[in-house]
Amino acid sequence: MKTAVFSTKPYDRAFLEAGSAAAGQELMFVENRLGAETVGMAAGCAAVCVFVNDVLDAEVLRGLAAVGVRFVALRCAGYNNVDLAAARELGIGVARVPSYSPHGVAEHAVALLLGLNRHLGRAAARVREGNFSIEGLMGRDVYGKTVGVIGTGQIGRIFAGIMLGFGCRVLACDPQPDAELERRGVVYGPLREVLEKSFFLSLHCPLVPETRHLLNAERLGWLPRGGLVVNTSRGGLIAAEDAVAAIKSGHLGGLALDVYEEEAELFFEDHSSDIIQDDTFMRLVSFPNVLVTSHQAFFTREAMENIAATTLGNLGDFAAGRAGANAVV
Ligand code: NAD
Repeated sequence: MKTAVFSTKPYDRAFLEAGSAAAGQELMFVENRLGAETVGMAAGCAAVCVFVNDVLDAEVLRGLAAVGVRFVALRCAGYNNVDLAAARELGIGVARVPSYSPHGVAEHAVALLLGLNRHLGRAAARVREGNFSIEGLMGRDVYGKTVGVIGTGQIGRIFAGIMLGFGCRVLACDPQPDAELERRGVVYGPLREVLEKSFFLSLHCPLVPETRHLLNAERLGWLPRGGLVVNTSRGGLIAAEDAVAAIKSGHLGGLALDVYEEEAELFFEDHSSDIIQDDTFMRLVSFPNVLVTSHQAFFTREAMENIAATTLGNLGDFAAGRAGANAVV
């Protein structure tokens, strides 16, 4: 069976190729993102393999069906970029990689929290320039602080555990509280209470209509003055322009992002010679108390191995006509 692998980077290719021959899969690697203009590149393939910023709306799915594609293998856990109802209607199966590096993502969120709090990006840049002044680089002890965790699923649960290990008081908000975390001392409460009490806040809930702009102007105002926010989940959880305003006013003490609502136009590519058009993003990265990484929280060797093995397994299930365990549609 032939599969068009969209948004391929050399690291995707290396890990997928390593297992594809043994799995009896023929993979056609495409660097382009999947979208309305590139859908024709899947002609002759029974399946496509896609990542977080590929677009699979109803129009693209109809285009895929028209060229004979019957299956979508997501190389990620989230499927907010796929119109599932349209896929169902068109008879296109969708499967994902439900879990690949919960530890890697949680550890990156901790790295962002620590890096933001201790200004590591600015500190390293200064030293490289021969500037050894520590003026403006003062942080806070993480020990003893209250940390809020929004969403304690696979990733949030691990993040909460690490913060308990730092000696933090951990508050959480999740419609499905985790009994084991509660036993370990995590206290669940409503969103407002968690925001009002948390000096550090980390987002780990999915992006769904109810959580879009979870942190808007009003809710950013509920955070303690000077508090720091980390988002490794999905960019749409934060209203970016409201975050800019909260930083300008001094209310928000710092923001660390691995995801950004409009990241599809920027992330994973080298735009260092381009004039970037997104003024909100450029305003954000211009602040000394904003730290941004380019959706790399998942990016560990272990995760890449898991993604490749699970994706090839999902393609194998489809080829064999089996309803796989990771099917979303
Ligand atoms: P998960 O499904 O295991 O957990 C999500 C948790 O959020 C669940 O416990 C759910 O009950 C809770 N939740 C749902 N709605 C909520 C709400 N309104 N308020 C509070 N909690 C709510 O998901 P996960 O595997 O832990 O992934 C979390 C997020 O991280 C996802 O959005 C995923 O896309 C993202 N992610 C990012 C990267 C990256 O590289 N940056 C990698 C993997 C996953």
